[in-house]
Amino acid sequence: MFGRQNKQKIVIVGGGVAGLNAAQQLKSGKFDVTLIDPSPHIEWLPNIHEIISGAKKGDELRLNRNLLVRRLGHRFLLNRAIEMTSSFVHLDDGSRVPFDVCIVATGSVNNTFGIEGADQFALPMKSVEQCQVIARRLHRASLSHRTTRVTVVGGGIEGVEAFGEVMRTYRHRPQFEFNIVESADALLPNCPGHLDSKIRSHTSGFRVQYHVGESVESVDPEGICLMNGGAIESDITIWSGGASPNGFLQRSYLTDTPDQWADVNDYFQSQARENVFIIGDAANPGGHSLSKQAYHAIDMGKAAAHNVERFLSGKRLREFKPSEKPQVVTFGDLDTFMLFKDFAVSSSVLGVAKEAIYTLGVLQLAPPKSGKDLMNALDRLQRSARKVYLPAFNPLSLLSKLPKSQFLS
Ligand SMILES: Cc1cc2nc3c(=O)[nH]c(=O)nc-3n(C[C@H](O)[C@H](O)[C@H](O)COP(=O)(O)OP(=O)(O)OC[C@H]3O[C@@H](n4cnc5c(N)ncnc54)[C@H](O)[C@@H]3O)c2cc1C
Repeated sequence: MFGRQNKQKIVIVGGGVAGLNAAQQLKSGKFDVTLIDPSPHIEWLPNIHEIISGAKKGDELRLNRNLLVRRLGHRFLLNRAIEMTSSFVHLDDGSRVPFDVCIVATGSVNNTFGIEGADQFALPMKSVEQCQVIARRLHRASLSHRTTRVTVVGGGIEGVEAFGEVMRTYRHRPQFEFNIVESADALLPNCPGHLDSKIRSHTSGFRVQYHVGESVESVDPEGICLMNGGAIESDITIWSGGASPNGFLQRSYLTDTPDQWADVNDYFQSQARENVFIIGDAANPGGHSLSKQAYHAIDMGKAAAHNVERFLSGKRLREFKPSEKPQVVTFGDLDTFMLFKDFAVSSSVLGVAKEAIYTLGVLQLAPPKSGKDLMNALDRLQRSARKVYLPAFNPLSLLSKLPKSQFLS
């Protein structure tokens, strides 16, 4: 057995689903692995929109990162990486961490496209904490009798899921009015199945206005100005307009401009440096056009870790072959869509699939290692069973839901 000082050093910058999955594959007996992340919790992002309605609480989506990393036998540094040179990662506190190989998994950040007032007056939804802020604002508004206008900017997958959660809890409250703004000419513009009309059909009885094909020019405390000269009064503006690369990439010369994702080859090696592997949302794998999804990030983390191991032992690297999985998109309690390559299926019982992905995803990030872990995992399963599985599979509710299932091409 080697001492820590004799082992090859691997630093992982960013401990989200990609970084943590890479860490899980690397053996602590063989490598000296350090994972760096400024946040103490890893968050399961695919379900964070459910915090907005209260369907999920923050603690159901957060896991203690230090515990998970230490349990793997690796070192965790609660710190922000500022930049990277050829063999050091430089941290916020002025220290630096040496590496033989660095894995970069810094994900993405909220993108407001430089739109005036958007950073100041619109509420982002990229973390548990940000979704909790939105949930509190909505809840507070529901306690008053004053009219509250809620606007979701962005009608892509995250925006539609957030809008669905707003509708889940507040659509029957008479003081609420709702808007959704999307610059493309339909909601869920890059998805199969023409789901725009399906979504609209679910909200026809409520005070919802769709602003599709309209772009935001500016945001202020009273609402939104549109490029076409129109305006929307909005008390709570939720921003789901897009994602952009983390500044770490450009500061480390892994990209040329701040709006670029880092180009990597089929083995996840940076085009800029061969001892740097980039995975998850941060990466732009040349040979594949991958959507920025957790299931790709998980597969990339695993594949890159195996390639890092092969790189360090001088073996030939293995090409990544992404697996195609259907994506599940929820629209609150009103509908769920399963998106395949060329078509979509809609049925509210599919909400169970999203919950199953959540249950398995969290279990995979934190496999139970002790009686206490097992109790926590069972507790999470029990909450899911109570809220989702049992109601969905109750024979009466199945009867009422199955006729609504639909194939959409
Ligand atoms: C609202 C929302 C809904 C989503 N829904 C789905 C869905 O339904 N299905 C699906 O498959 N995917 C979904 N996604 C996408 C999915 O969550 C991402 O693709 C996935 O999390 C990417 O993993 P990652 O590890 O690359 O990045 P992240 O999970 O974003 O992790 C990046 C990590 O890097 C850390 N970091 C950042 N900068 C630094 C730095 N300078 N130094 C050190 N650490 C740093 C961050 O703290 C973070 O922990 C959703 C995302 C959001 C935001």
